Amino acid sequence: MPRPARRHMPTHADGRPRKITIGEMREMGVRGVLIYCHCGHHIALDADRWPDSVRLSDLEPRFVCRGCGNRGAEVRPDFERGNPQLAIMGYRNTQ
Ligand SMILES: [Zn+2]
Repeated sequence: MPRPARRHMPTHADGRPRKITIGEMREMGVRGVLIYCHCGHHIALDADRWPDSVRLSDLEPRFVCRGCGNRGAEVRPDFERGNPQLAIMGYRNTQ
């Protein structure tokens, strides 16, 4: 078995990639996160509750899926909700 190529991305002790912080996400204009579980269950949350210094990957072990009960969901920036242009397009679709 060849060893997996070493990635330049820093990782946590358990091997998960370290993600951007809430503060960096806010700088991109994104105000919310999407929490995905491998079972397909996902929810959208406002990121207002977390301080700028928190990494998205720091949040992942804290979530327990309501669908399957597993811990360790994937946290991603909610670009679509944070992007005003996409939001406007979404509203137009409802007309
Ligand atoms: Zn799940």
